Amino acid sequence: MLFENLNIIEPILKAIKDYGYTNPTPIQEQTIPALLEGHDVEGCAQTGTGKTAAFAIPTLQLLCNDQTFKKGNRSIKALVLAPTRELAIQIGESFTAYGKYTGLKNTTIFGGVSQGSQVRALRSGVDILIATPGRLLDLIQQKYINLQHIEIFVLDEADRMLDMGMGHDVKRIIAKLPRERQSMLFSATMPESISKLMDSILIKPVKVEVVPDALAIDTIKQSVFFVEKSNKKALLIKLLEDKSFDSVLVFSRTKHGANKITDELTKVGIESQAIHGNKSQNARQLALSNFKEKKIRVLVATDIAARGIDVDDLSLVINFDLPDVPETYVHRIGRTGRAGAEGVAFSFCDQDEKECLRDIEKLMEKSVPVNEDHPYPMGSSTTVTNTLGASENNNSRKKEYSKKQRPNSYFRKNKKIANK
Ligand code: AMP
Repeated sequence: MLFENLNIIEPILKAIKDYGYTNPTPIQEQTIPALLEGHDVEGCAQTGTGKTAAFAIPTLQLLCNDQTFKKGNRSIKALVLAPTRELAIQIGESFTAYGKYTGLKNTTIFGGVSQGSQVRALRSGVDILIATPGRLLDLIQQKYINLQHIEIFVLDEADRMLDMGMGHDVKRIIAKLPRERQSMLFSATMPESISKLMDSILIKPVKVEVVPDALAIDTIKQSVFFVEKSNKKALLIKLLEDKSFDSVLVFSRTKHGANKITDELTKVGIESQAIHGNKSQNARQLALSNFKEKKIRVLVATDIAARGIDVDDLSLVINFDLPDVPETYVHRIGRTGRAGAEGVAFSFCDQDEKECLRDIEKLMEKSVPVNEDHPYPMGSSTTVTNTLGASENNNSRKKEYSKKQRPNSYFRKNKKIANK
């Protein structure tokens, strides 16, 4: 399938080509036609699937065809809500990139910074507004923003918004939207709370689901290092001696741990910064842009801060700590190996984390190969029971499980579209 086959108008097609994209991702292939036909969409997808373009491209196209825009009237006609400043900025950049030949204007507003420049941008007139909920409500209250002309509403990373305690704000915003509109909601998971929220936003939505599939994960070279907790930092420094890993994302379970890792790396001269919820918006944004521009080699992140970070050319993901939730492991390692590139993921596993590894392997229905060739091996690493039942030595752990033995539906080939 090519973008040309999706009935996308010429100015947007040209911008997509400028960006170097030729083939839509599965979520784009499903979502773009549904939105262009005027349906609401419920999308179960996470960052890395191409979901931003999946809603940005049709939104731009629908607005281009809008009569008021054609007559030269500018008012906020599309609203995208995102949970964090980082994600909001990335979405804004996508709208700018795909919309550069359309004449449509977008702006991004978020809290944690002064509102002056955001208000000036709003005053100059915008068609598409990308916002975090708190700042949006603030500016609505101050009468800088009016949502009465909204025709398209996008709620991105809805599960994360509820996780971050933004549910109430989101409901207040929805109550201010015109009833007649087209809406879409994207969420990586669909718990009960999201289903309820969806019922209040979407009307007969087309359901689109894309979760990581086995093939995508299989392109990532994974390995686990059994190591004592006290040796993890030394092992990290050792692994970073390999300079071919020029862009490394390290996951830490805690904010405090992330700070300690960066301190340790800085001491030995490895440029790194931490990104987590205790850092100010500005510090987070600076760390992220330094990482993207390759001014720092290592970014240390907690899971909540890392969701929404979109970094191309990530050469290595290191799980300094293993996550308690096995799906999080899949999301983390999915950061590398994007767009067909070969990714590498290393995981450190101490005595207390063997249970987590067991759950991860169960979910993936295959074992993660053990790297025993490192200077800080854990005494008991060769006697652990393999998480899938076989005794653990290098060979048995390397044994791949055949597709026939994979009853788990998590990694099913998962292109699903159905009218609810
Ligand atoms: P997202 O899931 O929206 O965060 O996108 C993940 C990454 O995929 C971003 O770096 C996009 O620029 C990239 N991307 C989106 N659509 C495509 C496409 N059709 N072809 C190649 N890369 C894409």
